[in-house]
Amino acid sequence: MSTPVAVVTGASSGIGAATARRLAADGFEVVCAARRRDRVEALAAQIGGRAVVCDVTDQASVDALADAVGGCAVLVNNAGGAVGLDRVEDADPARWQAMYDTNVAGVMRVTKALLPALEASGDGRIVVVGSVAGHEAYVGGAGYNAAKFAAAAMVKVLRLELLGRPLRVTEVAPGMVETEFSLVRFDGDAERAAAVYRGLTPLSADDVADCIAWAVTRPAHVNIDRIDVMPRAQASAAVAHRTG
Ligand code: NAP
Repeated sequence: MSTPVAVVTGASSGIGAATARRLAADGFEVVCAARRRDRVEALAAQIGGRAVVCDVTDQASVDALADAVGGCAVLVNNAGGAVGLDRVEDADPARWQAMYDTNVAGVMRVTKALLPALEASGDGRIVVVGSVAGHEAYVGGAGYNAAKFAAAAMVKVLRLELLGRPLRVTEVAPGMVETEFSLVRFDGDAERAAAVYRGLTPLSADDVADCIAWAVTRPAHVNIDRIDVMPRAQASAAVAHRTG
């Protein structure tokens, strides 16, 4: 039997990179996709996978990804993130647009482009990396909340639309994970990013990769609809216990 192919978007960092490593260790040939060529090429070389430079907000780039991938059984829609933590009254429309383009339209573009290959595999698995922010509002979160709530909605719609076909759809919705997420959110402000995780043990990217790998390796008749995974020290989107 040939090695099953898994495509991971946003594989250049954080959860995506950890997921690519984990799926490779679990026997998948992994296509590592993201915008930063040096990072995806280095990772693909380490794990015996393939690197494809892809911007999920760009249709031509996503089409080229689908061409490069060929057949695949697993898609992990992980590319995304937050930009800013602004109240609605201070919101920058360009930042909201950017969050929608990556976290929502990006998932649509890549899923649509790879759906024929996923279905042809006979057991296609689609994972969307959502967030606790896709289920709970918090002050300053509106732009990211709106995007991740939309991504969560898309997962539910896909489950309905794809029913009866050999395709499974899963949302993995983490709380705080220590990655480059906060650095990106706060425009490279390392001090502000570090403060997000101060005084508690956040999830690691590997913790989330573990959930994703588990979901996609259940028997074919089992659909894991959603995994909510939080640090022990975090009880909701905005409530955490910190020491020191
Ligand atoms: P990260 O370390 O910043 O990784 C984000 C990844 O997304 C990078 O590989 C980045 O690669 C990629 N990406 C961003 N825009 C892209 C685009 N237009 N096209 C292709 N790739 C793009 O953050 P992370 O925490 O691992 O985030 C992964 C996912 O988890 C995101 O969807 C995020 O919303 C979600 N999440 C994170 C947390 C958290 O606390 N960290 C919690 C819940 C959910 P390039 O820049 O190289 O393109």
